[in-house]
Amino acid sequence: MKKYFINTYGCQMNVHESEKLAGILSLRGYTEAKTQEEADIILFNTCSIRETAESRVLGNLGIVKKIKERRPDIIVGICGCMSQRNGAAEMLKKRCPFIDIIFGTFNMYKLGEYIDEFQKSGKRIVEIWDKGGVEDSPVLRSSGVNAWVNIMYGCDNFCSYCIVPYVKGRERSRRKEDIINEVKELVANGYKEVTLLGQNVNSYGGGSPEFAMLLSDLSDIDGKFRIKFMTSHPKDLSEDVAKIMSQSDKIAKYVHLPVQSGSDRILKLMNRKYTSSEYLERIAMIRSFVPNVGISSDLMVGFPSETEDDYLQSEELIKKVRYNNLYTFIYSRRSGTVADKMTEQIDIKVKTDRIERLIKTQFDIGNEIAISLVGKTYEILCDSFDNGICYGKSSCDKSVSFNGDESDVGKFLEVKIIQAKNNKLIGEKLCRL
Ligand code: SF4
Repeated sequence: MKKYFINTYGCQMNVHESEKLAGILSLRGYTEAKTQEEADIILFNTCSIRETAESRVLGNLGIVKKIKERRPDIIVGICGCMSQRNGAAEMLKKRCPFIDIIFGTFNMYKLGEYIDEFQKSGKRIVEIWDKGGVEDSPVLRSSGVNAWVNIMYGCDNFCSYCIVPYVKGRERSRRKEDIINEVKELVANGYKEVTLLGQNVNSYGGGSPEFAMLLSDLSDIDGKFRIKFMTSHPKDLSEDVAKIMSQSDKIAKYVHLPVQSGSDRILKLMNRKYTSSEYLERIAMIRSFVPNVGISSDLMVGFPSETEDDYLQSEELIKKVRYNNLYTFIYSRRSGTVADKMTEQIDIKVKTDRIERLIKTQFDIGNEIAISLVGKTYEILCDSFDNGICYGKSSCDKSVSFNGDESDVGKFLEVKIIQAKNNKLIGEKLCRL
C-alpha cells in the first residue's frame, strides 16, 4: 500500500488543511507513513507568517532532496502560504528542481488531480491561483475527540505586519447549512469538541449578528459536546456573541482575543483598528456576560519604532487583563507587508530583552492564577492519555493533568485541582459526567 507523509507548519488552520490533504490521499488509497523516509508522497503544507517558518521548510526540503535522490519515484509536493507568497513559487521552482508539484492556498483541494496529472505526464506542475472559494474536501481527522471545522477563509483586515490577507485572500464564508451538517455528523460520530476556525470568525457571513446566530444554531444540535471558536478580532467581537456564550452550555467559556500591543501608537501603526482602552472595554464586556471566561491573547514585541515606553504599556495591559494564556512573539519582517517598509526596525538584542521580560511577567501572572484555582472543581474533557496520566481542558481552557486511564479519553469528567506547579494544574478525578 502506498504511503504519504505531510510536513505541516504554522497555525491550527494549517493543521486542519493537512487533515484535508490526508483525506484526499486516503480516498486514493494512501495510508499515513510514520516517517518521510518511508513515504511515496511527501508534502509540505507551509506557513509564511514568520521568516523562521520558511527557513524550517527550506531546511527540511534539503533532507527530502536526499531522499528523492535515493528514491526518484517518490512525489514531492509543496503548498500553502509560503508557495502562495509573491515570488516564492518561482524561487522554489529554481532552487528545488526535485519538487514535483507546487501549488498555493486556494487550490489545495486539487491535490488529487495534480497527483494523477503528474503520474500520467511526469511533468512538473506549478499552479498558483490568485483567488479561491470555499470548496469542501474530504477530511481525515487526526483526533477522535476534538475536530476542527472551517467556517470562513481569508482576511480583510490587513494588519500592517501580516502576510495572511495576501496569501489567503479576501474573507469568504461557508454556507451555514454545510457547517451545521458537518458538526451534526461529527457529534453523531462521537466527537466531543468542535472548534470553528477562521482568521476572524466574528466577521462570519459579513459580521454581527451572523456569527452569533451560527453559534446559536450549532448549540441546538443534540448531544453533549463543546463548541469553541478562533480567532476573534477585538474590533468585531460583539455583545451578541458574548450573550450567546453566557446562555449556551455547549459554547466553551473561552475566547482567544489577540491584542498585539498595549500602546495606542503601535496599535495604530499595526492598523489594528482599536485602542488599548477599547480593547479593555471588550474584555470588560465579555466578563460582564461570562464572569469566569478564560481569555488568551497574542502579543508582539519589537514592532518597528517600539520604544521602551510602548513596551511598558504592553506589560501594563497584560497585568490589567490577567490572561489565562499569552502567546508572545518577536516581530519578524515579512516582505510585501507595510511594516517591512517601516524604517525604525528594532535591534534583535532589544527585542530579545523585551520578550524575556514579557514572558516572565506573564509566567508570574499565570502562576498566581493557577495557585488560586487549587481546591476548585472543573468539568474536564479528557483528550489524551500518556504514561499513566490523563490530559484535558475545562470549558474555560484550563489545561489539567490528572489520574485516570485510557478509557477516560473522550469523556467529560469532574476533576478537582489539587496542585499548581510552574503554571501547570494537577487534578484528581472525582467522577465521570
Ligand atoms: S486579523 Fe490581522 S493578524 Fe489576523 S490574519 Fe488578518 S491581517 Fe493577519
